[in-house]
Amino acid sequence: MFSYRHAFHAGSHADVLKHTMLIAILRHLTQKDAGLTVIDTHAGAGLYRLDGDYAGTSGEAADGVVKLFAALAPADGAKAAILDVAPLLQDYLEMVAGFNPSGQLKIYPGSPFIVQQLLREEARDKLKLFELHPTDSKALAANIAQLKAGRQVAVARQDGFEGLKAFLPPPSRRALVLIDPSYEIKSDYAKVSACIQDSFQRFSTGTYAVWYPVIPRPEAHELPRRLKTLATQAGKPWLHATLAIGQADDRNIPGEPDRGQGLTASGMFVVNPPHTLKPALQAALPQLLQLLGRGRGKGQIVESGG
Ligand code: SAM
Repeated sequence: MFSYRHAFHAGSHADVLKHTMLIAILRHLTQKDAGLTVIDTHAGAGLYRLDGDYAGTSGEAADGVVKLFAALAPADGAKAAILDVAPLLQDYLEMVAGFNPSGQLKIYPGSPFIVQQLLREEARDKLKLFELHPTDSKALAANIAQLKAGRQVAVARQDGFEGLKAFLPPPSRRALVLIDPSYEIKSDYAKVSACIQDSFQRFSTGTYAVWYPVIPRPEAHELPRRLKTLATQAGKPWLHATLAIGQADDRNIPGEPDRGQGLTASGMFVVNPPHTLKPALQAALPQLLQLLGRGRGKGQIVESGG
């Protein structure tokens, strides 16, 4: 069960989509004075080295954040590939750059650190983190301890699907829940649907963001459909965005070992999204596709309902 380590995938195109949307949602939710509770049910280790052994093994950041920085913040004063960068992407770039003051891309912030950056002390915003992997939960606790964030951030080595229940509804009555499992075991898909259904009953006005991989597996195909049905039945607005970077031609060279395509597409499904999210994504995703898209199968979708 515990073979998944997010360090292999940190900064991938999937992280770029997920974290760009996460920042956009949080920017909106922190505009109101009232306190916000953010719950990250599958938190990972929090911080990742892009030059470390794990990241180097699969090189997924090379097709994600590294490519984005090379195009939009090129070294040696070269011209950026896009001059009028969409505000959502600009915000994401600035967030990642903030963790790399030397100007070289060495550290990638996971969702816990991205969220923590955007919390407000004066509003008493809170962050609850769940991580079940023994090594990652230790790393997460150690990384978070360095922030000296006190009671603002809590880490639990616990099943996030179960742990979430105790926090809904939050005392603040305002919450963002990020549900970002590794989907290593296919029961994760059903658990996500059950978790959303249960959460609606506990706290239907929260914002829920679910990440999922777009892969040829019936459960993965079914998940966004199921989430649309659940949101519609509950009378809640939803937004669904996908980014597919397509096939890399250089991965399967005749006569050479198949290096595999890795994950080529992913999606985020958001219930009760900020009304600003759809137009902002409609500006940002075509740019992401232009910069990260590789070949056959590339595309992006932004759709909403409710
Ligand atoms: N949310 C993180 C981010 O954006 O930086 C990445 C999370 S990663 C995709 C999924 C994480 O969930 C892994 O670190 C894995 O160890 C952890 N995990 C798997 N099953 C879990 C469960 N039932 N409860 C909590 N964490 C779990």
